[in-house]
Amino acid sequence: MANIIELFSSIQGEGLYVGTRQIFVRFAGCNLACDYCDTPASRTLCGHALVETVPGQRIFEKITNPVPIADLARRINSFLTVRHHSISLTGGEPLGQAESIIRLAPQLNSPIYLETNGTLVEKLALVLPYIHIISMDLKLPSVTGNSYWQQHYEFLRLATAKDKEVFVKLVITGQTGEHEFKQAIDLVAAVRTSIPFILQPVTPCNASTAVTPDIMLAYQAEALKQLENVRVIPQTHKFMGQL
Ligand code: SF4
Repeated sequence: MANIIELFSSIQGEGLYVGTRQIFVRFAGCNLACDYCDTPASRTLCGHALVETVPGQRIFEKITNPVPIADLARRINSFLTVRHHSISLTGGEPLGQAESIIRLAPQLNSPIYLETNGTLVEKLALVLPYIHIISMDLKLPSVTGNSYWQQHYEFLRLATAKDKEVFVKLVITGQTGEHEFKQAIDLVAAVRTSIPFILQPVTPCNASTAVTPDIMLAYQAEALKQLENVRVIPQTHKFMGQL
């Protein structure tokens, strides 16, 4: 069984695969509480999930949680009548339901893309054989109120040790501190300088405030001192009006 919030087909709005068509499985529950969280409803378990009936048509059916894995797999695979790049396991934090992913993944007929906050190392180890692409967020202390440096480092080491495609995403807000930013760069560089590194200027939300274009240029220049592939990509799905 899996606890999900939504299942739908849409356009990836963030990271290295921006613009690709994906099936999004939004898992319920999260172990963090980020200031800029734009999916607060997904942080807790919910009695119902909204599931698109036809991919991209935005007609939703309400189904009861938890959802049997076989039923979820059938619904996801039925979307593949439209060509999709991959299936995004997102949240919330999908690794909070690693045991469900282990059962779900072998039944899916498309590559699997994991969007994760990069803190649940042992859970990653469980699902890693089934994952093709990993989009790992780095969460700064200014965002969560806690430090996850050690977890992020171990997570990234594990993710890159296997034959997986991995990139790191860091959201920059008006609250981002210079010291923590440099520590994030050091962390990624210590694992591998060629890991693609995406700087995402925050879409202002809750307590987080925007950063100016000049500051983004400065952050990118700083990151490029150590990392080879640093891109600045905002949340494009917001201004496309996509989910
Ligand atoms: S990790 Fe993601 S889902 Fe969890 S609180 Fe942070 S932004 Fe929200």
